[in-house]
Amino acid sequence: MENDKSLRQWLDEFKLSRPLVIAGPCSAETEEQVLDIARQLKGSEVSIYRAGIWKPRTRPGGFEGVGAIGLEWLQKAKAETGLLMAVEVANATHVKLALEHDIDVLWIGARTTVNPFAVQEIADALVGTDKIVLVKNPVNPDLALWLGGVERLYNAGIRKLGVIHRGFSTYEKTKYRNIPEWQLAIELHGRFPDLPIICDPSHITGRRDMIQQVSQQALDLNYDGLMIETHNDPDKAWSDAAQQVTPVRLKEILDSLIVRERIDDSHEFNGHLREMRFRIDDLDTKIIELLGKRMRIADEIGGLKKENNVAVLQNIRWKQVLEKMKEEGSAENLSEEFILRLFRAIHQESIVHQEKIINTSNS
Ligand code: PEP
Ligand code: MN
Repeated sequence: MENDKSLRQWLDEFKLSRPLVIAGPCSAETEEQVLDIARQLKGSEVSIYRAGIWKPRTRPGGFEGVGAIGLEWLQKAKAETGLLMAVEVANATHVKLALEHDIDVLWIGARTTVNPFAVQEIADALVGTDKIVLVKNPVNPDLALWLGGVERLYNAGIRKLGVIHRGFSTYEKTKYRNIPEWQLAIELHGRFPDLPIICDPSHITGRRDMIQQVSQQALDLNYDGLMIETHNDPDKAWSDAAQQVTPVRLKEILDSLIVRERIDDSHEFNGHLREMRFRIDDLDTKIIELLGKRMRIADEIGGLKKENNVAVLQNIRWKQVLEKMKEEGSAENLSEEFILRLFRAIHQESIVHQEKIINTSNS
């Protein structure tokens, strides 16, 4: 797959203005819903219509999709609007049915990319076809697994390939539904610059009010396209209600996005600079989040010290912390002076927090 320029051709064949926009509901629900949304998207910047027909649900009992009947609704939507149709496939039967119904784009969901057996089965079912296939990142942040999925399809002769970055699940509570871990996508893009990369801000954020911001971040990183879940009545959607937007809101979001020039040779420097600054900004945000988390634990310790009537400042413990950090800092090539200044500032803030707690009355 190394430096295979043909990978990008399908995107160029579209001759569309960047970004490529894939939109449509999380799930096909009824024929009327599928057609209504498609009609509203016709004539917009959207060129591919998405709808989940088979829905992988984390727990049983949720809406598991309408099944093959939905493919007929998509065929009608295609005949009426001219939009290309995209569905998620998770096994060979899905592929067979999608091919029979002339679906144009197949995507592999995050829960399927984690499973090499399933991806291989899909790749085998696609041999001899020239469908566009998009591979979502696996749920866990494992670049090799993501690439492995793409390679299985490549080895099956599929060349109209792309990846979808939909974020990674994490045990920790964050403002995202699936944390972006942008550095992984940046690394993938660096290694395979000709593999089109599409961002799915809907599954990254899980909330419609953050979709514009994450879409802009993706465009700033030279992503080729966006997949945005769009529904005619988002709050009543049968799946992923909180993250879907109306077609009107989708248009507002797309209109607001600033599309920067794609990196070419003359822009290489600026492109690299932008990517690196982006990584720095991402890390700075994480540093602040970590400091916030650290302070919240310090607050809890403050509560314990209060209950047990123990002094806020514990010199022995503090010296141990400093020594350990000096050592770890030195391994990271950080000067002792910097580590001392940094940890004194952090420690000072913890003391301020804990004193506040100790001095508030219980009543
Ligand atoms: C979807 O696109 O609706 C979906 C199920 O996505 P993911 O595989 O990213 O969870
Ligand atoms: Mn969804």
